[in-house]
Amino acid sequence: MKTTLLTLLATALCWSVDARAADKRIVLVAGHPSHGPGEHEFNAGVQLLHQCLQNVPGITSRFYLNGWPKDPKAFDGADTILFFMDGGAGHPIIQDDHLKIIGDLMKKGAGLACAHYAVEVPKDKGGPEFLDWIGGYYETGFSTNPHWEADFKSLPNHPITRGVKPFRIRDEWYYNIRFRPELKGVTSILVGKPDDETRQGKSSSPRGPYPHVVAASGREEVLAWAVERPDGGRGFGFTGAHFHRNWGNENFRKIVLNALLWTAHAEVPRNGVECAVTDEDLKKNLDPKGK
Ligand SMILES: [Zn+2]
Repeated sequence: MKTTLLTLLATALCWSVDARAADKRIVLVAGHPSHGPGEHEFNAGVQLLHQCLQNVPGITSRFYLNGWPKDPKAFDGADTILFFMDGGAGHPIIQDDHLKIIGDLMKKGAGLACAHYAVEVPKDKGGPEFLDWIGGYYETGFSTNPHWEADFKSLPNHPITRGVKPFRIRDEWYYNIRFRPELKGVTSILVGKPDDETRQGKSSSPRGPYPHVVAASGREEVLAWAVERPDGGRGFGFTGAHFHRNWGNENFRKIVLNALLWTAHAEVPRNGVECAVTDEDLKKNLDPKGK
């Protein structure tokens, strides 16, 4: 009993040094380095997002680097969690008892946002949970991951798109995501139309073409989406952010920042989360070369 009380007190104190009681708490988790310079810069990415959240009223954020947090209290009090890391069979969220830890948080109504490779989990481990928690996931052999320039000509009316203007940007935009049947509860946030060359999947891994992807020529694809779960929790999936430089694009950045607020049940400002990011900011905290 004593231990439990002390633990609770310690957790409360930990947040109170940098948070007001009513603040929504955002936890950002970055994966290990896995690619060359400028790609999959998870550690630099979450620190940049953290920096952008510092001046947002009513928001407190903290971040963890290089994989699943070693601190067992990392997720205590979290209103939403971002995972920005490599996924697939090595996804930290499916190791050990992590699916249960996150599942328990989801049951309490916490939000979950996954960016880039973190949207990929095996269909038999993590897939069912992701359908529930964020509405969809990258399914190996079904989804695809070429590099291409997506042209976002219009944006839906949703808190996540507040202050976001149409934009176009090259990324490793995954598509043909495995969504809930009939996209139940899923709201498309970013929709792009890959051209037929992109559908050949020459830059996909494993390399295309995949017949079912080629056959869908001309179809628009959902590249970022939002979900409201029946229990009130919110989820967000975002397939871009292979290239660290893309965080320098105000619209790209704002969508993810707005989504962090929205999944935490915080009010998104009318013009979205404003944050100036300089070229110098984009050079900060990059992983050591050769990783
Ligand atoms: Zn990538």
